[in-house]
Amino acid sequence: MDINELAQKHILNQPLYVTGKPIAYTAREFGLDPKEIDKLASNENPFGPSPKGMEEARKALEEVNLYPDGGSYDLIGKIAEFRGVKREQIAVGNGSNELLDMIAQVFLGPGTEAVMGKHSFAVYKLATMAMNAKIIEVDMPAPAYNYDLKAMRAAVNEKTRIVFLANPNNPTGSDLTAKEIIDFADSLPETCVLVMDEAYTEFIEDTPELVPDFNSRIAEGRNIICCRTFSKIYGLAGLR
Ligand SMILES: *Cc1c(COP(=O)(O)O)cnc(C)c1O
Repeated sequence: MDINELAQKHILNQPLYVTGKPIAYTAREFGLDPKEIDKLASNENPFGPSPKGMEEARKALEEVNLYPDGGSYDLIGKIAEFRGVKREQIAVGNGSNELLDMIAQVFLGPGTEAVMGKHSFAVYKLATMAMNAKIIEVDMPAPAYNYDLKAMRAAVNEKTRIVFLANPNNPTGSDLTAKEIIDFADSLPETCVLVMDEAYTEFIEDTPELVPDFNSRIAEGRNIICCRTFSKIYGLAGLR
């Protein structure tokens, strides 16, 4: 029997996630010196990794014969302290990509729906498809290609388990104000989880009007998950 016939149909229909082309490929293709190339496609940090991060990574290499602490005990403690939340509120993944997949695994399945912007981070769609749940893409109209929160809210129904929102958004670079996001979050029914993708929050932290603080709402039991990453401002995209 053809092995494809044994596979889940919705997985076979899954498009490949096309990652940004590595610098070495472009250098080879056009006969260029890799140093002449600035890669913009994947929002990698052009300043390189943090020297402190490199020092810790070198230390960690000495111990690769041992399984890592999958529970990330020390890291979770540090993040919880930094963010002013309890350790039980923190989960660590191999990039927030993996967390987005895990969130989809937890909340989505056949008969459920995930609402997302039409020009947003590609992984929301892939994670939803992988769970055989329905993708509800809401238009992000020109010229700003920003989220239309009214339309997003209107797309939420009793089958919606996740609403994905990135602020600032990738790839359109659009942003919403903290008030707009908080009002939107408050308007959502209890039957869905707001996944707030904050991959670029550190880049706008000097403009507090753009950064919603969900700590008090999460403490009250609202269903909100905020995703952050070491890949962008911390320059550690390759450490996964
Ligand atoms: C880069 C990016 C991520 C995921 O990055 P990881 O390297 O997996 O942590 C998530 N969301 C958005 C919007 C991104 O641009």
